[in-house]
Amino acid sequence: MEVQWVLVVHGVVTAMVVLSFLCGQWPIFRGTFIEKINYFITFGAYDYFLRFVAVICGSRARDAILTIEHYCCDRPNPILQMLYLAIIGITYFFVIKSSFRYFPGYYVSEFHKYASMLAVGVGVLLFLLTSFSDPGTVKADNVPQYLAAYPYDEVIYSEKECSTCKIPKPARSKHCGICGRCVARFDHHCGWMNNCIGEKNTRYFMAFLLWHFLLCLYGTIILGLIVVGQMKERRIVYILTVYYGVENSYSGLFPHVVQWLLGSHNTQVLLIVFLFLVTLLLAGFFAYHTHLCMTNTTTNETFKWQDYISWKKKINEAKASAAALKASLQSMNGEGKAIKHSKWRAFFRKSPLQYEEEVIKNNIYDQGIIKNLLEILFPLSERSSFHHQKYT
Ligand SMILES: [Zn+2]
Ligand SMILES: [Zn+2]
Repeated sequence: MEVQWVLVVHGVVTAMVVLSFLCGQWPIFRGTFIEKINYFITFGAYDYFLRFVAVICGSRARDAILTIEHYCCDRPNPILQMLYLAIIGITYFFVIKSSFRYFPGYYVSEFHKYASMLAVGVGVLLFLLTSFSDPGTVKADNVPQYLAAYPYDEVIYSEKECSTCKIPKPARSKHCGICGRCVARFDHHCGWMNNCIGEKNTRYFMAFLLWHFLLCLYGTIILGLIVVGQMKERRIVYILTVYYGVENSYSGLFPHVVQWLLGSHNTQVLLIVFLFLVTLLLAGFFAYHTHLCMTNTTTNETFKWQDYISWKKKINEAKASAAALKASLQSMNGEGKAIKHSKWRAFFRKSPLQYEEEVIKNNIYDQGIIKNLLEILFPLSERSSFHHQKYT
C-alpha cells in the first residue's frame, strides 16, 4: 500500500511541475503557487545556482558559467540540433530494440517496420530542411523589394534603419541578434534548428511540427497496439481470472494488468508515456502556430501587439482618471442641492472608466485565412510580382 502512495504523490508532484512549467504564465494562475513554481523553474533556480556557485567557488566560476550560457544561448551553436538528433535517434533505437520483434503481431503488420523508418527519415529531413534553409535574409540588394512587399502599418512598424546592417528595416522584419542578420517576416530564432524562422522557412517549420506531432502519435498508437496485442496473444486476462482467481472486472483486473505491463513491457510503457507527452506538447505548439499563420501574425508581432495594447490601455486609464478628477472638481464647485442631485445622477451614469476607448488590434497584414495560408506556402519573395516591385 505504501508504495502506491509514493507513486500517487510522485505523480501529483510531476503533474504540478509540468503544469507550472508549461502554463505557469497564464493569467488564470497569476498570484498562485503555480506561477511561483514557474518562476522558480524558469528563472529563480538558475539565479540561486549562480549565487551558490559564486559563494562556494568564487566569482570566476560564476563568470565561466555565464560565458558558457552566452555561448549556448546568445550565439549560433549546434547543441540543441545535436540534442534533437540524439533524442530522435535514441528513442527510435529503443523502439527498434523493444518492439520490432513483435512485428507482425496480433494488431500490427510487418509494414510498420518500414513505415516507421520512412516516417523517422522524413522527420529528420524536415528538421534539416528547416535548419539549413534561408529564413529570408534581408540584404542591400533585396531590401527595396521587401520594403515594397511589406508596407508599414505605422502602429507596430514604422520606417527605421537596422543599426547593425545599415539598411532600411522592412515592416515585419527583425534583426536577429544571435545570427547577426535582418530576417524578413521574422517569427522567432529557433534554438533547436539553430536558425531563424522567417518569411521563407515558416512553411518548413510548420511541416516539421505537424510531421513530428503525427510521428509521436503514430508511435504511441503502434506501441499501444503491440502491448494490447501481447495481452491478447498471451491470454493475460484469461490466465489472471482462471488460474489466479482474480475477479473479472475492470477494478479487479487493472492493478494486475499494470503489474504485468511494468514487469514484461516496461520499455514500451515508458516509450508510450514519453511519446504521448511529446504528442500533447507538439499538438499545443502546432495549434498555436497554426492560429498565428491563419491570422497572419508572427510570434514577434504577438509581443509587439501586447506592448502596444498595454501602452494604449495605460493611456486610456490616464485619460479616464483625468476625466474623473475633472468631474469630481466640478461637483465640488457646485451648490449643495446640485451635489445631491449629481450624486444620484452619477450613480446611474457610466463611470469615467467605462468611457475608455476599446483598444483594437488592427492587423493590416491579415487578409483572410486563405490568403494568409498562401503567404506561408508561397512566400511573397518567391512570387514573380516581388521582383518587379519598386519601393516608392
Ligand atoms: Zn540587421
Ligand atoms: Zn536567428
